[in-house]
Order: sequence, then structure tokens, then C-alpha cells
Amino acid sequence: MSVGGVGRLAVAVRAAADLVLPVRCAACREPGGPLCGACSADVRAASFVGGARVTGPDPPPPGMPVCWAAARFEGALRDAVTAYKDEDRQDLSAVLGDALATSVATALAADPVVRRRAAACGGLVLVVPLPSSRASRRRRGGDPVGDLARAAVARVGRCGTAGRSLVVAPVLRLTRAVVDQSRLDRSGRAENLAGALAVRERWAEAVSGSACILVDDVVTTGATLSEAARALRVAGADHVAAATVAATQRRARGPALVSRPRAD
Ligand SMILES: [Zn+2]
Repeated sequence: MSVGGVGRLAVAVRAAADLVLPVRCAACREPGGPLCGACSADVRAASFVGGARVTGPDPPPPGMPVCWAAARFEGALRDAVTAYKDEDRQDLSAVLGDALATSVATALAADPVVRRRAAACGGLVLVVPLPSSRASRRRRGGDPVGDLARAAVARVGRCGTAGRSLVVAPVLRLTRAVVDQSRLDRSGRAENLAGALAVRERWAEAVSGSACILVDDVVTTGATLSEAARALRVAGADHVAAATVAATQRRARGPALVSRPRAD
């Protein structure tokens, strides 16, 4: 077949696929994906100017690690995170993985303990994705936060020596059933998660004495990150920081969220 013929065939195949599974913007549902031009601009507008910021609830829950986030959880970004997790829109992993990479890279540069560990000869920093509940794995399939962690670490690893010290380490497991956090208020979330996470036996040695960056899609009340940090510290982690794609902002009820430019 001629080159032109191959090209025409590819166009025809793509058109046929679009008829079966039209690619629509994950936010506004207009044709074009994973995000249309207007919604991509909206995602950029939600990003913190100058890079990721330390952000989270004020006051933080006990044991909350310092958490960097790349954007405000609003508008098209909020729709994209929801579509990625609830509608299995894996085509959003690059967009969201890039945002998480910004947070992870900032944690790597701005957190003095993490920075020292990454710079040490043979030093490793564990990047620990928050585990999904069994019910949510069944409903959504796969491991959405783990996939974002791998995308983010691959991206940061291409950008310099320190990035190559990052290792995705799915060390945490749920020790009991928890309910969907999104329906709970701040105290309900803390109660739902208290003591619910532990380090997997086969990772115990790696976690002991380690520096860890916990990663998740969104920080809201900090309950999940606090519980995860507790589990890592119990297993002997020396230092725990956190990085997320986005942070929810102040709500009518519940804690205020603060964010400030990174201090470095
Ligand atoms: Zn759109």
C-alpha cells in the first residue's frame, strides 16, 4: 500500500473508532479530548502561579505531613480528576501525571530531608501512592493513583539526577473496609480511616529508615494523608512528605485551607 494509502486508512480507522467511541472532553463533553482547548486553559488557570505550593487544611489534623499541591481543585481540573477516577478516562493520565510531577519535583527540591536523601550516593526516596479501597478497585478497575504516581515519577526522572532517586513503592494496604470518603465530613473521615492503613510485610525493610513522599490526587481534610503518614512512621520511616495534583479550597463548612508559595 502506498504511504498515502496508509495515511487514508489510518484516518478511516480513526473516524470509525470515533463513531463507536467518540473522544469527548472529560470536562465539558464537547468533541475533542482528553480535554478541549477551553478546558485545557481552565486547567492551566487552576494551577498555582510559580509551581506547587504547600497547602492543606488549617489547622492540620494531627500527624499531617507537609503537602505540596500543583493546583486548586476546581473547574475543569475537578471534572478531569473525577472522570479519571470514576469513568476510567485513562487518557487523562498524562495531564494529571504532569500536575503531580510538578508537586513531586517541588517536594524533592524544597523539602530539606527529601533533598538530602535524594542527593546521597545511592539514596532513594520512596514515592508511596495512597491505596484504593477494594470496592473502588472493583468499581473503577486498575489503580488510578498508582498509575499517576508512575507517570509523575517517570517525568521527574527525565529532568535530573535527583529525580532518578525516586522509586514508586506501593507499600500501603488497607487493614479493614472503609467507606467512600467523599460523603463524610472532617471528623467522619478521620474516624473512617483511623488505624485503617498498614505497611505491607514485604516492604517493611525498605520503609524502615526511609524518606517517603506520599502521593494522592486531591488533599481535602488531610485525613487520608495523616493516616498514611502514621502507618509509615509506625513502620520506621524517618521522614514523610506529601504531594498531590490539587487541593480543595475553603468550604462553607469544615476547615479553611491555606496555601503559600514554596519556601526554598
Ligand atoms: Zn472542554
